[in-house]
Amino acid sequence: MQSSGPKRPNLDSVTTINSDGSHYVLHPADVKGRFTSMRRVFGIVLLAVYVLLPWIPINGAPAVFLDVENRRFHIMGLTLIPQDLWVMFFAITGVGFALFCVTSLLGRLWCGWACPYTVFLEHVFRRIERLVEGDAPARKKLDVSPWTGRKITLRIIKQTLYVICAGAIAHVFMSYFVSLPRLYSYVQEGPMAHATVFTFVVTLTAILWFCFSMFREQFCILMCPYGRLQSALTDDDTIVIGYDEKRGEPRGAVGKTEGACIDCRRCINVCPTGIDIRNGLQLECIGCAACIDACDEIMIKVDRPKGLIRYDSHNGLNRQKRRILRPRIYAYMLLALLGLGVLATIASSRIRPYTIEFNRMRGAPYYMDGSMVRNHFQFRILNKRNQPATVTMSIKNGDEGFCLSGADGVITLPAMGEMQRTAVVIIANEAYTGSKDVVFTIHAEPGNVTFEQTVRFLGPDPRSLHLPPK
Ligand code: SF4
Ligand code: SF4
Repeated sequence: MQSSGPKRPNLDSVTTINSDGSHYVLHPADVKGRFTSMRRVFGIVLLAVYVLLPWIPINGAPAVFLDVENRRFHIMGLTLIPQDLWVMFFAITGVGFALFCVTSLLGRLWCGWACPYTVFLEHVFRRIERLVEGDAPARKKLDVSPWTGRKITLRIIKQTLYVICAGAIAHVFMSYFVSLPRLYSYVQEGPMAHATVFTFVVTLTAILWFCFSMFREQFCILMCPYGRLQSALTDDDTIVIGYDEKRGEPRGAVGKTEGACIDCRRCINVCPTGIDIRNGLQLECIGCAACIDACDEIMIKVDRPKGLIRYDSHNGLNRQKRRILRPRIYAYMLLALLGLGVLATIASSRIRPYTIEFNRMRGAPYYMDGSMVRNHFQFRILNKRNQPATVTMSIKNGDEGFCLSGADGVITLPAMGEMQRTAVVIIANEAYTGSKDVVFTIHAEPGNVTFEQTVRFLGPDPRSLHLPPK
């Protein structure tokens, strides 16, 4: 993987792949501007969210904790058990169609601004490289210089920092699955005590180090499936990053041509995928907006209006009518709202921090012992929270003579624990008027959660209980 001479990007080949298949190493130039600043702030916020999510407790569990070992999945205060995972269908379709909608409206906004790969590469690893080896010209010079003591030292420092960052990202990722306190104890107990977790973290560290140290933009160009979907999701009204050919051409030095583009190649030099946006929208473009800032800088210098490269649609760049809302936007929006709406409804009503199941006990449907009729039920309570809970149970039909036996006290559940109990519903013969619906009320704390469960109380024909003695 070596740098070769400067390349002129074209539409027939990928700039970052040499004709022999080797990697053409890019050193994008530094750029300043409003989009670069906004992206940096946004990237730092996203990095903070990634690192902090396992630290922030909501309802007794980290904000995101996919506890595979105990099969509890805590997401922003909701706790899912494997039986609840069907709701993920609505989450995935809702989020997926929302992403389709954003892509159809705004092109690869996700790739350039929010994709974790771009965020780590641009805001962590490229910053380290810049810090250790200097700006793009200095890095290019270092690449082709002989292996002096200085070059070896700089490369060791850079790669060591890369490995530390890759390891930190891998450990944070692991904490989403085992929780931070447990990860800390695993680290203290040593690698051999938890060989599986250790192997996973080491493998992930190695993959991240390889991707961010060497593979870099190749992942976006060659492997990312989302990038491949672009041509299906975008059309001539999608807002993309584009070059205003009508204003820019014919390109050339100031005073020599009429076009606004002075052919300074600054937009190419800052591009992290090495393309020339003046050739039109290309698969390699990740929508990072670096070329907008770069070209605006130049336009200011040559005293021409900014926006030669800008966010605009193909129709906008060609001076045709722009349309924001199109049939495909309505369709994606509708499907996204449907998925997310169903998810929100289910999450608020069906997914609770406790799961309670009622079943009639096996055996006779009812029992009689001379003065009363009994029904036996079995219930199971599952506490999905990471803290102890108390459960109280009562029945609503007390005024009709029904009473509860066997589960009428306060039941204490351990954190993430479950318990099975028998509830016996009793009614005296004199009050019994036949089979009837009985409503259980179950109240659980913490969370102030109340469930109601209707069961059918079964018994004999009431006339058989009130026959006069012979
Ligand atoms: S930065 Fe602007 S002026 Fe320079 S080559 Fe690119 S489009 Fe032309
Ligand atoms: S063409 Fe512009 S927006 Fe696209 S990747 Fe290159 S610099 Fe970023």
